[in-house]
Amino acid sequence: MKTKTLNEMNRRNFLKVSATGLVGAGISAKTPASFRSVEDQTPKIEEYSILGRTGFKVSRIGIGSSNQQDNFHENLLKAGMNYIDTSPMYNNEASVGKAIKGVDRESVFITVKFFPKEINKPEILVNRKFTKKDVLQSFYTSFEKLQTDYVDCFMMQSASSSGLVKNEAFHAAFEQLKREGKVRFRGVACHGSYWLDEPKETMEQILQTAIDDGRFDLILLVYNFLQHDQGERILEACHKKDIGTLVMKGNPISRYNSMIAFATKFYNDTIPEGKPTRVINKLKKEVKDFDRFKENYGIKTEYELRDSAVKFVLNNPNVNTYLYGFKSYDDIQKIVALSGQKLTSRDTRLMRAYQEDYGTFYCRHACGICESACPHKVPINKLLRYRHYHVGNGNEAYALRKYNDFKGPKADHCIDCEGYCEQACPYDVHAQAMLIDAHLRLNLA
Ligand code: SF4
Ligand code: SF4
Repeated sequence: MKTKTLNEMNRRNFLKVSATGLVGAGISAKTPASFRSVEDQTPKIEEYSILGRTGFKVSRIGIGSSNQQDNFHENLLKAGMNYIDTSPMYNNEASVGKAIKGVDRESVFITVKFFPKEINKPEILVNRKFTKKDVLQSFYTSFEKLQTDYVDCFMMQSASSSGLVKNEAFHAAFEQLKREGKVRFRGVACHGSYWLDEPKETMEQILQTAIDDGRFDLILLVYNFLQHDQGERILEACHKKDIGTLVMKGNPISRYNSMIAFATKFYNDTIPEGKPTRVINKLKKEVKDFDRFKENYGIKTEYELRDSAVKFVLNNPNVNTYLYGFKSYDDIQKIVALSGQKLTSRDTRLMRAYQEDYGTFYCRHACGICESACPHKVPINKLLRYRHYHVGNGNEAYALRKYNDFKGPKADHCIDCEGYCEQACPYDVHAQAMLIDAHLRLNLA
């Protein structure tokens, strides 16, 4: 109830600002302070950086796939963010197009993504084949929805192999679009390899290929306090080559309420079928002290750890911008307020403690090491990513759609299994329990 009230208050603040005529005003990346208003209680971005060789002065918190309700993107821009990520997979181009109408086009940086799927079989993991024509068609569809004269970056999304990074159909399409004046820079995003495919490559191997290739101006990678080793090396390598860096999946923490609900469900043994006792018992042991954890560390709200996680990402000077998926007005208030804040010793202490006690509840994005151990070829990392969208990010509709659109083997196989994936996981993640939970939460069939 309290959160609802806060959201309502935040909405009123935005409406108030709108009434002053600021909505739709041009945004200058060079003079972010010019958007200040004494009446405007909305926090503003405090920190900007130069986005590698593009030279663009980018807000250090950018706009990832976000809520598309009326005027939401307009309010994100008004808070001083000036990088917007779009993709046919997010279907957000029209909403972004509407938001940038009347905004000084040079003050915002817009990326359009190409998802390298096998055309007409979007969930096929192997043999991704596409032509230059497919790439162009995907671009033009997004471009038309955006209704702009050009986009700043055209990016390959989910590049799951070095082969895709070097795919000449993508590069030939990019060169044509650049000649036509429709794109300026080239980018690549990577969640790591799909380990059911060949070759099995890490995110670092794939992105190092992109860095060495020399044609990419921007790189989007996974980086957070539970999974940072590869990211740190990639960020450093990008910095040396003046490649702009974007971070996704910066918050590896499940929301507390969901965590408690998850634990309670297993405590009460309410799993409707199968009753995997071994899984339940193992999990009970792990989650029973959760309330004590909060008490020990003086954690009062579910936002504290998330805020530490965001600050961890922003604390790395090699990160140009962290793309955050904003879901509510409350998110805008709280996340933008972190801009310019330094990581404190309390943040570090909290993250260390969380890693120690709850690191086993986070299936590392861009991993997949355990997948070849599964006799049913369940894409563990992918399905647990969908669960994370639901549990960790609160992006419930998107998580449901992704899980139910997926046509391959799902986590119903996990109920009667011996948990081979867990045995193969170097991080001791409770993969089986979380997969069962994913299926119970997300499967609509
Ligand atoms: S369960 Fe472990 S090994 Fe498997 S994908 Fe997740 S983090 Fe990697
Ligand atoms: S629990 Fe069993 S079926 Fe499920 S992903 Fe792990 S190994 Fe595969």
